[in-house]
Amino acid sequence: MEKSKKIILTGDRPTGRLHVGHYVGSLKRRVELQNSGEFDQIFIMIADAQALTDNADNPEKVRQNIIEVALDYLSCGLDPAKSTLFIQSQIPELTELTFYYMNLVTVSRLQRNPTVKNEIKLRNFEASIPVGFFAYPISQASDITAFKATTVPVGEDQLPMIEQTREIVRSFNHIYGEVLVEPDVLLPDNKACLRLPGTDGKAKMSKSLNNCIYLSDTQEEVKKKIMSMFTDPNHIRVEDPGCVEGNPVFIYLDAFCRDEHFKTHWPEYQNLDELKAHYTRGGLGDVKVKRFLNQVLQEELEPIRARRKAYEQNIPEVYRILKEGSICAQKAAAATLAEVKAAMKINYFDDEELIQAQAQKFRQQP
Ligand code: ATP
Ligand code: MG
Repeated sequence: MEKSKKIILTGDRPTGRLHVGHYVGSLKRRVELQNSGEFDQIFIMIADAQALTDNADNPEKVRQNIIEVALDYLSCGLDPAKSTLFIQSQIPELTELTFYYMNLVTVSRLQRNPTVKNEIKLRNFEASIPVGFFAYPISQASDITAFKATTVPVGEDQLPMIEQTREIVRSFNHIYGEVLVEPDVLLPDNKACLRLPGTDGKAKMSKSLNNCIYLSDTQEEVKKKIMSMFTDPNHIRVEDPGCVEGNPVFIYLDAFCRDEHFKTHWPEYQNLDELKAHYTRGGLGDVKVKRFLNQVLQEELEPIRARRKAYEQNIPEVYRILKEGSICAQKAAAATLAEVKAAMKINYFDDEELIQAQAQKFRQQP
């Protein structure tokens, strides 16, 4: 087992364009890790099969968003020369692994998964949960282990999935022998980025909640969304003391703003702590803070938009990148699946010893 290799697997569901929550929660980190040169292999997956588990009746939505997510990846700086970008459904080995891992997980264990519980509520599934959706943590374990990933950079909501994966790995290795690798989760080190709230103040910016600032939003759209953002509801007049905790405008500043931004855009303050202190004291209006946030965010998004524009002019090339990535990912997954099947003793035709031993056994029978 090649334990010493450092391998990343992570990805996103093609259920919409990617937003700034994805960016700070995972995407930005991926690009940094990619460029650090510390990893032997980086696999970035567009999880279309997973997206279909709760969008079975809307395949067109998934199909349309593949290219959107791919464009978001490339525009953030994921580089196909360094990272393998691929589409989940094109790797049948992942489905096969899922089928075998299903035997290692109980229904009650899946029912306990807090993220899945939450998502079931959000989607109003109640008693009509599709089996595929219910089991998606198992399919995620296949995605991670198929590539023998050691590191999975994700947002906080993915913690229960990685825990489930680790349990499956331990259980598999215990029963069948050491084949799979237990992955480590890599969370953002900035607290604000663990789970970026929505512009409406809801706990999570999420494609399904319509409370997102998209990486591909125009300058005008971003400004409009920021200026109408939810803030502290008790901060009515400028003189009133305001609350920065749980205030999404300040959480976004925590996520995006650096001291340099004050030098260029708001030299009245040295840093975010000073700005927060003023807001808390009272005498600082929301509009001013929002204008500053707009400047900070536009600065971060501008190069991303520019790169996107360039790739948008060459869509066939983007599909080619995904096709090549998928071919490469399929080879890696096939190698793991072969090991898995050998360990599970379902590699009948590759096992010459088995065939000879059976032949011997039956020859000896009278
Ligand atoms: P959906 O509503 O379809 O589930 P989503 O917005 O939750 O969409 P995913 O594709 O499920 O997006 O998540 C992709 C990655 O982005 C995961 O690693 C997840 O942890 C991270 N992520 C998603 N939303 C946020 C957020 N608001 N803050 C930080 N990270 C996030
Ligand atoms: Mg999600």
